[in-house]
Amino acid sequence: MISFASGEVTHRGAPASQLITGTAGSRQMPTILVVEDEAIVSEVVSDYLRRDGFQVITAADGLAAMEKFNSARPDLVLLDLMLPSIDGLEVCRRIRLQSNVPIIMVTAKTEETDTIIGLGVGADDYVAKPFSPKELVARVKAVLRRASAPPPIAGDPLSFGQLVIRPDRRQVELSGKAVDLTAREFDLLEFLAKHPGQVFSRDELLDKVWDWAYVSDGGTVTVHIRRLRQKIEPDAERPRYLKTVWGAGYKFDPS
Ligand code: CA
Repeated sequence: MISFASGEVTHRGAPASQLITGTAGSRQMPTILVVEDEAIVSEVVSDYLRRDGFQVITAADGLAAMEKFNSARPDLVLLDLMLPSIDGLEVCRRIRLQSNVPIIMVTAKTEETDTIIGLGVGADDYVAKPFSPKELVARVKAVLRRASAPPPIAGDPLSFGQLVIRPDRRQVELSGKAVDLTAREFDLLEFLAKHPGQVFSRDELLDKVWDWAYVSDGGTVTVHIRRLRQKIEPDAERPRYLKTVWGAGYKFDPS
């Protein structure tokens, strides 16, 4: 895998460097912070990302990850769960205290993912080892696209009482105050609000909002709904907007 990767680096490195230098620094390619203590994995992943034109910085433990994050301000963090010094969960929590930067959490096995999602640390996506580097790069792109790209149709603000959703700016306001949402939380809220009153099962939401059909159960949706409620509901215990329809799923109540 490595030899294949390094063979490609030379071949495909040129367009990337042109992109970076050709714009006189006005528009750099996104910087990815790869946090991974297994050198071989870190190397392969970094190679694949660089081949696609990304700038890559690496950290091999949790403390180094925080240092690199603070000094380099990456556009996305690829975060291994099991790390020396402080683990991936704690790194994720610390980053979330100060930033909504997209975070993709890398876990040792699929079963761990649901547990981590349940902890609600606020990662944007989850990938279980072993993963295909190609798929990982595709995930990185998908998450960055969601986080940064304006939606294709810039819609008018959606107003529901104290709640205002601005699709064109990807902003949400509650009682006139901006609400901080992760990219995925915004996508979920926007999707539900654009289909007011319509009930969606967790699987349907995974399909519509999580554009990667990765292996997971609806627990992902449950956790995102819970976090959204804490952020946008006047009373998260008695939701006014994001209603649970027992045995069926969720709906956005516009009334
Ligand atoms: Ca590890």
